[in-house]
Amino acid sequence: MTDENTPDQLIFQNPVDRFPSITPPKQDQPEPGLDAELKPKADRGEQSYRGTGRLEGRRALITGSDSGIGAAVAIAFAREGADVALSYLPEEEEDAQHVKAVIEECGRRAFLFPGDLTDRDFCAELVGKAVQALGGLDALVNNAGKQIAVEDIADLSDEQVTETFTTNIVAMFRISQAALTHMPAGSTIVNTTSIQAYEPSPHLLDYASTKAAINNFTKGLAQQVAGRGIRVNAVAPGPIWTPLQVSDGQPKDALPEFGKSTPLGRAGQPTELAPAYVFLTSPESSYVLGETLNVNGGMPTP
Ligand code: NAD
Ligand code: MG
Repeated sequence: MTDENTPDQLIFQNPVDRFPSITPPKQDQPEPGLDAELKPKADRGEQSYRGTGRLEGRRALITGSDSGIGAAVAIAFAREGADVALSYLPEEEEDAQHVKAVIEECGRRAFLFPGDLTDRDFCAELVGKAVQALGGLDALVNNAGKQIAVEDIADLSDEQVTETFTTNIVAMFRISQAALTHMPAGSTIVNTTSIQAYEPSPHLLDYASTKAAINNFTKGLAQQVAGRGIRVNAVAPGPIWTPLQVSDGQPKDALPEFGKSTPLGRAGQPTELAPAYVFLTSPESSYVLGETLNVNGGMPTP
């Protein structure tokens, strides 16, 4: 925090320049990509997110929480008083260790569970391990996602379509199903969807259609488990600066302009998503069910 960012001034920050308008250089990382190698660095709230005890004593499993939005959510949950189980791919160990260290610095517990969510058995195994480590489970954030840009449907492989659907939506069914067998009344599920659910980019056919499915799944499941006292909601990010975008998530030429066409004129930072997940997980939002909270820099949504 600089001298200009005194707490009083934080209250009146202008959203246009609260975070810098970035022009990322063209860059390429093999999938799944690492926050550790992202240029410029993304802000996951390590220095800025301040909790107010809104998730005190909660036990959360967050998928894709080594980096990007999931990492920002994991850090925020811990600062709000939750213990967190982190799910990520084995290649992302470096990022996951960083998030674990930040969580432990604020006195909360972090448990690491690397593994591939396209493996059916791993989804159930992950939930079982998280329940055991945390001593129960009352918050689930389904956030892991795969996004590979392909310009022409003729070049979209069957393998990619299957992997995108398995990672983004089928695993969400499997993890939610397993988690719900453990969750008491008062628990919450928050799913990560996208602006792509309503405004599909022509080069993201498979990805965008999984995000529309996630919105629909969220509204259906919310009705099914409401009577048990379990709330299901979703967050729909706009363009957020994360490793997903540089590991073939966008055409390379599009990276320098990433996020500039939003009404705010800049890409979002992962930490700007965290308050939405905290709100939907905390009991403050007790009358909010089946909702999709859009956090997208001002792009109109249905
Ligand atoms: P990210 O790369 O930091 O996070 C995605 C994570 O998904 C990875 O870290 C990885 O751990 C996990 N993952 C992918 N495949 C997996 C697999 N087979 N098994 C286990 N884990 C797997 O990028 P992010 O942008 O923070 O993405 C988080 C979520 O946000 C995704 O669902 C993405 O679709 C969504 N989203 C992102 C944006 C954006 O602009 N960045 C916009 C809208 C929605
Ligand atoms: Mg990652």
